[in-house]
Amino acid sequence: MINEQIVEQFKQNLAQVNQRISAAADRSGRTADDVQLVAVSKYVDAAMTDLLIQAGAVVLGENRPQALDEKFQTINQPGVQWHLIGQLQRNKVKKVVPQAALIHSVDSIRLINAIDKSATDQGLVAEVLLEANVSGEAAKHGFPPEEVAAALDHANSLSSIKVTGLMCMAGLASDSDDVRSEFARLRELRDQLGSAELVHLSMGMSGDFETAIEEGATLVRVGATLFEGVT
Ligand SMILES: *Cc1c(COP(=O)(O)O)cnc(C)c1O
Repeated sequence: MINEQIVEQFKQNLAQVNQRISAAADRSGRTADDVQLVAVSKYVDAAMTDLLIQAGAVVLGENRPQALDEKFQTINQPGVQWHLIGQLQRNKVKKVVPQAALIHSVDSIRLINAIDKSATDQGLVAEVLLEANVSGEAAKHGFPPEEVAAALDHANSLSSIKVTGLMCMAGLASDSDDVRSEFARLRELRDQLGSAELVHLSMGMSGDFETAIEEGATLVRVGATLFEGVT
């Protein structure tokens, strides 16, 4: 496929996903403006990611700090935001802090401390989400739900990290009813925390983003569906 065809296919895929977002937002009594698509570009290289941006993607999600760094350095498109959606090790924090507009996947007190320290050193405030393990699966990352309040209190005591919401991944073994209740659980957890600053719920991927929106998602992380017909 030549680049123009790829961009055309990406445009169609983005339009379809945006339509589905809009319909699901309607069903939750909201509008498409209340839900941000994070286009997960982790499956492709920088050149292909650039075409996805040309097709209209403005918020890009990467799950590996190294790939985020590479794309951040090579793709110089004004107005594009990069989000880190995958696991972050403390030795990678320094680079990620100035590159990521939002880190979705903060899952330990040690990581909170490392991000705050690095942001302080660089004169920045890092915006993050706390990941909660609402499925309870051992292989999943994230704070156990009952530990999120303490993690939030701790982060709020620091000056260079700002928590603006919660994130989750549905369990691998979950059927669609389980997935819906996991998303509902994240929303309830956010509501129980009672903080007006927690505006974001990052939940939902290609297979379940509509369910996530129906349950209150404000950020959906969609990868595979955007690459249909291209890769
Ligand atoms: C890959 C990934 C996604 C996107 O998943 P798709 O099924 O490709 O839409 C979302 N969130 C995280 C954390 C991921 O690693």
